[in-house]
Amino acid sequence: MIEVKNLQKSFGDHVVLNGIDQKIEKGEKVVVIGPSGSGKSTFLRCLNRLEEPTGGEIWFEGNNITDPSCSIDKLRQKMGMVFQQFNLFPHLTVMQNLTLAPTKLGLMNQGEADKKAKELLERVGLPEKADTYPNMLSGGQKQRIAIARALVMNPDVMLFDEPTSALDPEMVGEVLSLMKELAMEGMTMVVVTHEMGFAKEVATRVLFIDEGKVKEENNPVDFFEHPENPRLQEFLSKVL
Ligand code: ADP
Ligand code: MG
Repeated sequence: MIEVKNLQKSFGDHVVLNGIDQKIEKGEKVVVIGPSGSGKSTFLRCLNRLEEPTGGEIWFEGNNITDPSCSIDKLRQKMGMVFQQFNLFPHLTVMQNLTLAPTKLGLMNQGEADKKAKELLERVGLPEKADTYPNMLSGGQKQRIAIARALVMNPDVMLFDEPTSALDPEMVGEVLSLMKELAMEGMTMVVVTHEMGFAKEVATRVLFIDEGKVKEENNPVDFFEHPENPRLQEFLSKVL
């Protein structure tokens, strides 16, 4: 589904990603971990070109999305993204947040979008919040709405950038459960997170990004029980 070839990203002369190669198959759940500032968000944001790579190629469903002639808007619709800070539109109701993109892009008329949005509000357990504004929601509710908003577009892959890092501890569980359900339904997912329990339970593969490279990758059992890279061993000793 996604193939990353020798991905490079620098900001000025600060090299953040220095040659990342990855193949992500349909249905995989790839969890990305690594120290703060190691480039995890930059990696995720390059996948849908919220950041422009400075080198290498990214292929998505057979299209080279780093090619200047590629129509990125179309492809981006197939890649849902969920951010740490929710990024809901504060001046729009929950329903309007959900229906804005598909109606504006002409993919659904308002009736179709409303129907789909209602289904998704049921799906994320918040049907009664349709007419609520985001500032009336808890952090956990905001994030479940943000996930619903990404799902409205029927994405083929969901990218999550530390979706629970801004939440009070008692709200982390509701968001992780929703993500687990999505995973079990077969969604292809790339998740940057510090939730090691989630990684162990849900990941098909875990990546350790450090110093601009994927320093280790493995299935979760071997990744956590037999880490080989000394930097990963040190990292795990701090977070586990
Ligand atoms: P992580 O998500 O692993 O904490 P980031 O991908 O956010 O790391 O950042 C990696 C490095 O890139 C950091 O040193 C950060 O300061 C730098 N960086 C990220 N975005 C920008 C930007 N837009 N301009 C300049 N530097 C940036
Ligand atoms: Mg980050």
